[in-house]
Amino acid sequence: MNIYEELGIKRVINASATLTRLGGSIMPPEVIAAMQDAAGWFIDLDDLQAKVGTRLAELTHNESAYVSSGAAAGVALAVAACVTGQDRDAMGRLPDTGGLRNEVIVFKSHRNGYDHAVRMVGVKLVEVGSATHTEPADLDAAITDKTAAFVWFQGAMSGRGDFPLAQVIERCSARRVPVIVDAAAQLPPVENLWRFTQMGATCAIFSGGKDLRGPQSSGLVLGSKWLIEAMRPNGNPNASLGRPMKVGKEEMAGLLAAVKRYLSLDHQARCERDERVVAAWCRVLNGLHGVRAQRSFPNEAGQPLPRCEVVLDGARLTQDELVRALRDGTPSIAVSASSNPLGIFLNPMTLTDEEVPLVEARLVELLSHQ
Ligand SMILES: *Cc1c(COP(=O)(O)O)cnc(C)c1O
Repeated sequence: MNIYEELGIKRVINASATLTRLGGSIMPPEVIAAMQDAAGWFIDLDDLQAKVGTRLAELTHNESAYVSSGAAAGVALAVAACVTGQDRDAMGRLPDTGGLRNEVIVFKSHRNGYDHAVRMVGVKLVEVGSATHTEPADLDAAITDKTAAFVWFQGAMSGRGDFPLAQVIERCSARRVPVIVDAAAQLPPVENLWRFTQMGATCAIFSGGKDLRGPQSSGLVLGSKWLIEAMRPNGNPNASLGRPMKVGKEEMAGLLAAVKRYLSLDHQARCERDERVVAAWCRVLNGLHGVRAQRSFPNEAGQPLPRCEVVLDGARLTQDELVRALRDGTPSIAVSASSNPLGIFLNPMTLTDEEVPLVEARLVELLSHQ
């Protein structure tokens, strides 16, 4: 009996995405081994954070790196660093930002649940543009001597009302405004580990618990040395804003192992495997009455990986009923709803080779004979 069976927790086959509520991702053996290794000694945590950071920076072609307790915590600490710099008195007062540069600019079209990580620092969010359109002049006009940073959220929310990140970086740099890129789910492609910062972003922040398959509660901040040096005193183990976002020695070691592994993967082969899975699902599901299956690309976070969109044109089940039947069945299968009210997405990226046919078989069972 494993811990889940002992607790009566159902195993979920994840055909949805690297979602926190499903457990993020599955750590490969080398990550688990690194965490286990790290668990055996007392060490100086600041020293470990610094040395792991040096290795992570070298591996990812960045100036500096920091391990946070998740991408969202990384965003909070990066914003805090922009507000306080090295001012210890200011750090001690957060989230009271009175008298400090305490405005953070964001595109209105990028507003999303994760911006809580920005607001918790005590800053005022200054929205520019509308939900569907933003002009460079809107950004220029929003920058004042109170501006601490610009935060760019890369994902489903980008590309709607915004103009390109390169232009944001250019305009912000000209006014000495740091640009923080929340790139939590922007792997693959692996090159994103250095692409945003080489474009000139002050930092790019990735989730350790998504495609990196590091510890679920880890995040990777990559970027400028001055920013990361100002994040350190704002973070654990110091009694400051980041203290409730503690990162353990095991997470630091695990994330380093995960990044090393990620850089050594054959990403092309992985992509081809997902394409084969999607093509096979499409073939089988298109053979069912009232069902239309097609390749969808890129996926919801904009990652260059395919999914299979299954649309129930003439089927008996509604989208909701199908999502629920998959979740409540045995095995329990998690899928995402598509924006088509009759559709769902099947995502191979979080499935093992053994799970792929189980998902297919369950769908065939639910959608046949109607
Ligand atoms: C997943 C995600 C986060 C949160 O990442 P954690 O590592 O779970 O903290 C933040 N921002 C975006 C855009 C995300 O997709």
